[in-house]
Amino acid sequence: MPTQLPRIIADVPLSQATLELLDGKVEILPWQHFDQGLDASIEGIYTFGHPSLDGRLMDLTPNLKVISNYGVGVDHVVLKDAAARGIPVGNTPGVLDGATADMGFCLMMAAARRLTEGERLARSEQFLNYNPARMLGKEVHGAKLGIVGMGRIGRQVARRALGFDMQVSYHNRNRKPEIEQELGVQYQSLEQLLSTCDYVMLCVPLTEQTAGLIGPSQLRLMPSDSILVNIARGAVVNTEALTLALQEKWILAAALDVTDPEPLPRGHPLLSLDNVVIAPHLGSATVATRQKMSELSVANLLAGLQGRTLVHQVV
Ligand code: NAP
Repeated sequence: MPTQLPRIIADVPLSQATLELLDGKVEILPWQHFDQGLDASIEGIYTFGHPSLDGRLMDLTPNLKVISNYGVGVDHVVLKDAAARGIPVGNTPGVLDGATADMGFCLMMAAARRLTEGERLARSEQFLNYNPARMLGKEVHGAKLGIVGMGRIGRQVARRALGFDMQVSYHNRNRKPEIEQELGVQYQSLEQLLSTCDYVMLCVPLTEQTAGLIGPSQLRLMPSDSILVNIARGAVVNTEALTLALQEKWILAAALDVTDPEPLPRGHPLLSLDNVVIAPHLGSATVATRQKMSELSVANLLAGLQGRTLVHQVV
């Protein structure tokens, strides 16, 4: 008699690496819509962003043993509801820091040097001659970078910035003296950081405290030639305030890997502004990093299904 595989429900599409790692170990049900497919037969949930996995949905799966997230940000899982039900939640910290920091730098430089705006011109009929007065940008090397959220990813951003001779400051709820010593970075209050930096890069998790952390009054503090980079989560920034800030030139530009909502509705005013660079949430999207994320998230899932401690457990 063939043994029955544990049944999981999963956000789709799953990467090829994840599918290969799960092959023969679980039965996978694609997660099409909120409640659909969630029932007593489900033992595991594999997610990367299905909207808010809360207690109500968890209660539809009374035999749920584990929630495994493909990624480090778990803002779409109501952690206190999982903890209250004794359901372990796994994520993938550490393996994506370098790739996400690379993307932060990539976006920062693209906005500073007007790369996407220039790319549009270079491909167009309007590019007829080299013009030394065209599209002058802002220097990155030697400038002041403020990192909001000096955690695993923030630290990798700081290391790259030092290679560009940048002056780096950071803001966290708790100071990190060991990082200050190791990297020579300076602690600032959020207000100080916003009002003194050329570049502000957001690397905080999305929580109740950080939702809307950058709103109209914070954007008003930023110098008019400064650039905001968001590689955290879209909702850390108030989209309406950012749109106005960019339209009215309170700040020079923004570079966004993430937006709120995500994706922005087609025709949203942010999408037509030249002083915005937008990527479709590509922070950790490299072949090597996605492979490691698959390995870690699958290891978490299988450990939970077998009643073992997860490799990385959030709650
Ligand atoms: P981490 O190591 O936990 O670092 C987060 C940092 O944010 C910590 O230093 C924390 O310090 C600080 N922080 C938390 N709440 C804060 C608050 N209210 N005010 C100020 N600072 C606060 O997390 P990580 O691994 O670097 O990941 C950070 C986030 O990046 C993830 O949660 C995810 O949402 C996002 N991310 C995005 C992508 C992408 O594709 N764009 C990829 C990976 C991750 P304190 O606790 O001292 O405040």
